[in-house]
Amino acid sequence: MISYDEAIEIILQSVRALPAVSVATDQALGCVLAEPVASVLDLPPADNSAMDGYAFCCAGLPADRGLTQVAFVPAGSRYAGTVQAGQAVRIMTGAPLPDGCDTVVPIEDVAQDGARIVLHKQPRPGDHVRYRGEEISRGELALAAGASIHSGSIALLASSGIERVSVFPPAKVAILSTGDELVELGQTPTDGKIINSNSHLLAARVREAGCEPLLLGIARDTPDDLKNKLKRGLKADLLLTSGGVSVGDCDHVQQVLDTLGFEKKFWKVAIKPGKPVLFGTIAGTPVFGLPGNPASSAATFDLFVRPALKKLTGRAAPRGTRIKARLTAAAEGGYKRQTFLWGRVAVSDGQLTFTPSRRQGSGQNRSLQQSDALLPVPTDNPQLAAGSEVEIILLRLPDMA
Ligand code: AMP
Ligand code: MG
Repeated sequence: MISYDEAIEIILQSVRALPAVSVATDQALGCVLAEPVASVLDLPPADNSAMDGYAFCCAGLPADRGLTQVAFVPAGSRYAGTVQAGQAVRIMTGAPLPDGCDTVVPIEDVAQDGARIVLHKQPRPGDHVRYRGEEISRGELALAAGASIHSGSIALLASSGIERVSVFPPAKVAILSTGDELVELGQTPTDGKIINSNSHLLAARVREAGCEPLLLGIARDTPDDLKNKLKRGLKADLLLTSGGVSVGDCDHVQQVLDTLGFEKKFWKVAIKPGKPVLFGTIAGTPVFGLPGNPASSAATFDLFVRPALKKLTGRAAPRGTRIKARLTAAAEGGYKRQTFLWGRVAVSDGQLTFTPSRRQGSGQNRSLQQSDALLPVPTDNPQLAAGSEVEIILLRLPDMA
């Protein structure tokens, strides 16, 4: 059986970034830039005032620091004249600095009597002036290829005059749940049936990863129904199935995938939970067969599907980053398979803590509700003491409200 690290390596080698698309700047939120973007404007567009105040020529300031106001310049307009020595204009924040001026004093630092103002103290030349292009100049790199677009990036792109950008689009992820025992939410489960919770779980996980779920419903444990529904899923950028990948009598997923040209890359990884996970491609489209137990489905999504989605969407570090946390209780893994424990993350004294869930059963959705991270327990040291420092795979930041 291959190891967790080997499985990740195989996935990352098998998955390529989606073709880039051009989108309106606002639509790029959450995406990765496929091409560098240069500013089409100087920012700010002209030398201007950083304060509501008075602009004048510092060298022309009389010894008594008195000046005569000759104009008022609000933001968005320009004073056409030239300001002479001994003169000042009343200027608002962002208004272009008039010709003849090189310095601004804030309104608060001036005594005013009609058109006459007196500065409280001697200014330095250039005080409170923002220079043309000091933030970014025309043609300068605004964002490099590979940058993740968040709200601050959108602001920079918009202010730099960039209307469209080239990004890796969110991946469309088809999700098929399998099992004769499943009914949809809204139906009453009778006679040993259970609600198909995995479609909801996986769709929400896909959305949390910034991608788009396409729900294919439930396939019954028959080759025909599986085949019909799996075929529909191949239109997506990535196909996920849940259930039917173990060695049970009703586990037909792999055999049906084979009839659709499945190139198997691996089946079974030495991990707990999630051992029967299946991965391969059909005509280049990545396909994951996740085990049906809810916590196994979730763990294999977090461990394997998430890196694949990151690779598809052009992220530079698809493996994700491990973060240090302090263990609040003893934790135990296993020697044979790499164990991953669910747990709660909190912040205590400015440090992250990890509390392993008391429910680690792979059939449980409750452990998922209580978990913000997975703790990989080393196989060579599977007994971890309370208080020890560990590295966790963070799924989300704890609620800090
Ligand atoms: P399987 O991997 O198909 O053998 O399923 C393992 C366990 O997970 C069984 O107890 C199933 O009932 C349960 N299971 C499978 N699919 C789902 C699903 N979509 N939602 C909730 N539980 C499921
Ligand atoms: Mg099943």
